[in-house]
Amino acid sequence: MKMSANGRNLQLVAGCPPHLVYDGRKISIEVKRSPRAARIKLRIDPRRGVVLLLPKRASLAAGMTFLRQEIDWVASNINRIPETVPFRDGVMLPLLGRPHRITHAPDQRGFVWAEGGHIYVAGGEEHLPRRMKDWTRKMAKTEISVWAADYAEKIDVSYSGITLRDQVSRWGSCSSTGRLNFSWRLLLMPEEVMTYIVAHEVAHLRHMNHSAAFWALVDEIHPRVDQAKKWLKRHGADLHKYGVERVEGV
Ligand SMILES: [Zn+2]
Repeated sequence: MKMSANGRNLQLVAGCPPHLVYDGRKISIEVKRSPRAARIKLRIDPRRGVVLLLPKRASLAAGMTFLRQEIDWVASNINRIPETVPFRDGVMLPLLGRPHRITHAPDQRGFVWAEGGHIYVAGGEEHLPRRMKDWTRKMAKTEISVWAADYAEKIDVSYSGITLRDQVSRWGSCSSTGRLNFSWRLLLMPEEVMTYIVAHEVAHLRHMNHSAAFWALVDEIHPRVDQAKKWLKRHGADLHKYGVERVEGV
């Protein structure tokens, strides 16, 4: 089934599993069952693509019929799914907001390092995606730890540790046991945006809510909260495209 939306081509391919083709890009359809859902629902997820939520008794065929009916809505929202950019030689990656080119350096042994707008990755090319993954997590943890320690000292709070995650739904969180969690993708943000998220979570160690007192404290330790929020709203979703391996053969 082919249809034109926003002057572009969106095609639903009823294969196994079904997927969408939009402007030559394959967009996967993730089918999820939810015993709590009362009706069939559609959602756009920046990393997983189109998510089709089925109630317990709804058939996949009914879900696909629903998807066809809602195809205009999908077409007008599909640009919220960024094209994935896996870690490969030649790929551009923002590092603290500054563009860096991933550059395979086969003659060097065992290291990854950033220098003059490049991220050099030594060793065999088949290991490059894994090495980049390990390196970005390690770098993110180093950067975030420095700022978290600084902010915590400023407002006289302590935390039990920092965990790096890769969630789509949140950039950071703070547990009731005093553990701070952050997405490694903070490493890809301009420094003042990354530090805002760190300041926000550290401030939760004092106030476990979003009260006026909480925001006053965030303002006290981070002077550019509004700018950071604006940046996240505009560019945040785009960061989910990096370091994601393409799903082949769907
Ligand atoms: Zn919060």
